[in-house]
Amino acid sequence: MPLASCPRCKTLFNKGQDPSQEGPSVCAKCVDDEEADYEAVRAYLEEHPSRSAAAVARATDVAESCVLRFVAEGRIKNVTTREAIKCGRCGAPAISTSKRLCEGCLNKLNQQLAAEQASVRLPPKQDASGKPKPAAGSEGGMGSAPGRLRDVIDTKRRLR
Ligand SMILES: [Zn+2]
Ligand SMILES: [Zn+2]
Repeated sequence: MPLASCPRCKTLFNKGQDPSQEGPSVCAKCVDDEEADYEAVRAYLEEHPSRSAAAVARATDVAESCVLRFVAEGRIKNVTTREAIKCGRCGAPAISTSKRLCEGCLNKLNQQLAAEQASVRLPPKQDASGKPKPAAGSEGGMGSAPGRLRDVIDTKRRLR
């Protein structure tokens, strides 16, 4: 009888005899929790499709490994699981595929944006001054103060 380690509580449990049938993926004790998590993830994805597994996990308070398990089992589909996408600032899983930022850094950026907007006015034609354009989407390319501000604004827009 095939034993498996429960991904939730790590105890060994019987995964079921029939190889043609997918046995339960968690132990009997964890089934209710697993289903509750599944329901939370499913409901969240209905309103927020195509989020990353990490973002879904954070928003629903479900373990990311659990979200990925639902994906692996084919129970949920509209979630992005490209794990290569990491926050360009701190390496945490990013919440967006278009701009690689984690939620924490996004919040920091928003605060930074608010602070900089309060103190700095963006010059209307910065590029005409002959300064090199800050490359859009460059690898963590935080340049001069105006460039950084623009990057922050750009980041915010993309994440809308
Ligand atoms: Zn368990
Ligand atoms: Zn980060």
